[in-house]
Amino acid sequence: MTTEVLKAPLVVEFPFTRSLGPVQSAFLTGLREQVVLGVRTTDGRTLVPPVEYAPVTADEIRDLVQVAPTGTVTTWAWNHAPRRDQPLETPFAWVLVRLDGADTALLHALDAPGPDAVHTGMRVRVRWAAERTGAITDIACFEPYDSASDSEVAAHDGQFESMVTGIVAQARLDYSYSPGRAQTAYISALADRRIVGERCPSCRKVYVPPRGACPTCGVATAEQVQVGPGGTVTTFCIVNIKARNLDIEVPYVYAHIALDGADLALHGRIGGIPYDQVRMGLRVEPVWTEGGRYPDHYRPTGEPDADYETFKELL
Ligand SMILES: [Zn+2]
Repeated sequence: MTTEVLKAPLVVEFPFTRSLGPVQSAFLTGLREQVVLGVRTTDGRTLVPPVEYAPVTADEIRDLVQVAPTGTVTTWAWNHAPRRDQPLETPFAWVLVRLDGADTALLHALDAPGPDAVHTGMRVRVRWAAERTGAITDIACFEPYDSASDSEVAAHDGQFESMVTGIVAQARLDYSYSPGRAQTAYISALADRRIVGERCPSCRKVYVPPRGACPTCGVATAEQVQVGPGGTVTTFCIVNIKARNLDIEVPYVYAHIALDGADLALHGRIGGIPYDQVRMGLRVEPVWTEGGRYPDHYRPTGEPDADYETFKELL
């Protein structure tokens, strides 16, 4: 049987709030004021972007020095299709730029008409954002610049009237997820309210949900085996904290459930019984809700409890 492998878009995103510390604070405050600051190491190198500890000696470094807003491309890659929230909406080059006065290079975007207009060694300069808040995006991007070198920039000690002390970085990862062949079969069977695992050809154990390979023997699995619907609570915990976006009254019980015919316990919520009466060996069955794509929870079947000997290997 050939089933088309499932695929779904997934987005993981969260705001990441961080304090900056003395060096990053000066660096980002500087960008707000159109000043690029680096830090000088004890062995005399200037690092841009700056760090708090020297990468070679591990010395604490606080010696802020101003570098020029002009520099040289040390390497680059063309970005044909900019994604959401990248510095430019039209195709651009990702560049490492060694600013004049710095010994290391800064990663940023270069606004150029095409890859033919970009080369290692080309001169570029900062294009400042119109509105600056104390963030790396205060540098809108770099742009080509026809001059060998800029004049010396006056020294700046990194002290500003009001310092940027923290930032909120939006972390976002959107990607296409495919659960693969084995879990596609598992998810497809769930749509028919069947629970299907796979049997290892070597140790004969049945894994649910299937992973496409036996985690013990390391061999591929393919033989599908329907398990359940009944099962046994092997271990459980009582949840006392209400999770955001989860409309379940606390306390409730979350359990390891060994479905009949399975050699691996899966997880599920136990309902239909007071939380303090759930026990190891309790016999349960899945409860599906209207339109639900997987069991909403498991409830007691009323059968006598399973003997410990029958599930002791599935804790
Ligand atoms: Zn095996």
